Amino acid sequence: MHTKSLTELSQGLRNREFSSVELTQHFLDRIKRYDGQLNSFITVTEEVALAQAKAADELLQAGNPSSPLTGIPLAHKDIFCTNGIKTSCGSKMLDNFVAPYDAHVVSKGQAAGLVMLGKTNMDEFAMGSSNETSYFGAVKNPWDVQAVPGGSSGGSAAAVAARLAPMATGTDTGGSIRQPAALCGITGLKPTYGLVSRFGMIAFASSLDQGGPMAASAEDAALMLNAMVGFDPRDSTSLEREAEDYTAQLNNSIEGLKIGVPSAFFSEGLDPRVAAVVEAAIKEYEAAGATVQDVTLPNNHLSVPAYYIIAPAECSSNLARYDGVRFGYRCDKPKDLIDLYKRSRAEGFGSEVKRRIMVGTYALSAGYYDAYYLKAQQIRRLISEDFKQAFSEVDVIMGPVSPTPAFNLGEKTDDPVTMYLSDIYTISINLAGVPAMSIPAGFVDNRPVGLQLIGNYFSEAKLLNIAHQYQQRTDWHAKVPAAFA
Ligand code: GLN
Repeated sequence: MHTKSLTELSQGLRNREFSSVELTQHFLDRIKRYDGQLNSFITVTEEVALAQAKAADELLQAGNPSSPLTGIPLAHKDIFCTNGIKTSCGSKMLDNFVAPYDAHVVSKGQAAGLVMLGKTNMDEFAMGSSNETSYFGAVKNPWDVQAVPGGSSGGSAAAVAARLAPMATGTDTGGSIRQPAALCGITGLKPTYGLVSRFGMIAFASSLDQGGPMAASAEDAALMLNAMVGFDPRDSTSLEREAEDYTAQLNNSIEGLKIGVPSAFFSEGLDPRVAAVVEAAIKEYEAAGATVQDVTLPNNHLSVPAYYIIAPAECSSNLARYDGVRFGYRCDKPKDLIDLYKRSRAEGFGSEVKRRIMVGTYALSAGYYDAYYLKAQQIRRLISEDFKQAFSEVDVIMGPVSPTPAFNLGEKTDDPVTMYLSDIYTISINLAGVPAMSIPAGFVDNRPVGLQLIGNYFSEAKLLNIAHQYQQRTDWHAKVPAAFA
C-alpha cells in the first residue's frame, strides 16, 4: 500500500479494497518498524490518526467523502500548530508547548478528510539546511543513513522518501521544502508567497516563509496543494484569489515549452556530477519538445548575503516572544525578571538560533539599519527584477536545487558559512516570492539529486504540469530506498 500514488489510494478506499483504518495502521506500523533508524518523527499521533481514519471510513461508506483525499494519511512538519498536540518547532523552547488551536493548513487538511499520522522532525525554528539543529536529534537520510536528509523540512522529506507517510507538509523560507526534497529524492513545491496561509505556522522570517506539499510525485503534490491553498483572513499576507484545481493542467503537452537555464546556476561551486544529472534532465525536456535558452540572473550571487541579513533580522523580531513568561520553556528559579528572560532564552534556544538572533539584532540596530537591512532589501528588489526579466523571455527556469548531493552528518556543522552557501540556488526564489519545485532527476553515489523548476508568480499548475510530464518519461520519482521497500 505504501508505494501507491494518492490517486491509487483514493481509488482503493472508494472501491473498499482497504479501509482508511487499515491504511492508517499500515503507515503507523511502518513508522514503528523503521523510524528508529531515521528519527523523522518528533510525535506520532496514533490515537488521533485512528480516530480520524474511523471518521473518514464513515464518510466513505456513506458515499460522502469531503475530498478526493479523504481517508489518506499525512504527516505535518512540527512547525504547524495542532490543537491539543505538542508543537515543538524542533526546539527545547517549545518542547512543552501544546498549541491551543490548529494552523490553517492543519484545519484545511482535516476538512479534506486527511488523517494526521504525527509531527515531523525539523531544524530548530526551521533554521538549517541539514536537520542537524533539531533539539530532538538529527534526521537520517533514508538513501544512506550516514547522510543528512537536508533541512529544514528534513523529517517530512525522510518520512515520505521512506514511505512512512504518503505525503507531508513542509515550509520553505530559503529552500527548506526543495532542498530536503532533492536530497531525499522526493517531489516538493514551494508555492507563490501568500498562497498558503501562515496562520498557526510558527514564524521564522515572515516575509519569506511559505508552506507547501512534499510527496512522491508531481501528481500527488498537485492533489495535496489543492487541500492546502485558500484565502485566510487570519494571515494578512494571504492572497484572495479564485480557487484553482492544481491537477487541471497535469496532462497538457509541453511541446514548445521555453526553458531558461541561468549560467549563474552552473558556477564553480556546483559539483560536476550534480551538473551532469541536471543537464541530462534538461535534455529529456528537449527530447519532449522543449527549447532551451540562456537567461541571466545577474544578482543571484547576492542572494545568500541578502537573505542572511533579512531572515535573521525578521527572526530576531519574531523570536522575541519566547521570553519564558507566556509560553514555552522557563528557566528554573529565576532571581528576577531579567534573569528569567536571560536564562530562559539562553537555555531554551540552540546555538544556530542564537547566532541568527544576534546577527539580526545587530543588523537592525540604530546606526547599522541602513548599511545592512536597507541594503539587503534593495538587493531583494533587484533579484525580483531579475526574475521578472527572465520570465518575459521564458516559461520556466531550470537548474540544480543544491550544489552537492546529501553530505555526511556532521560534515558542515562547524562551518555555518559553508552550510549557508548550500542554499545558493534556492534562496533567490524566496526573496522574489515566486514558486519553485524540486523533482527527483537521478543519483550521484546512490544519493538522490533534484532538478529545480522555477516559475512566474501563480504558475503552480504549470510547474506541476512540467514536472508531471518529466515523471511520465522517467521513473526517478518512483524509486524507494531498498532498506525501506
Ligand atoms: N537553509 C536556510 C536557512 O537555514 C533555509 C531554511 C528554510 O527554508 N526554512 O535559513
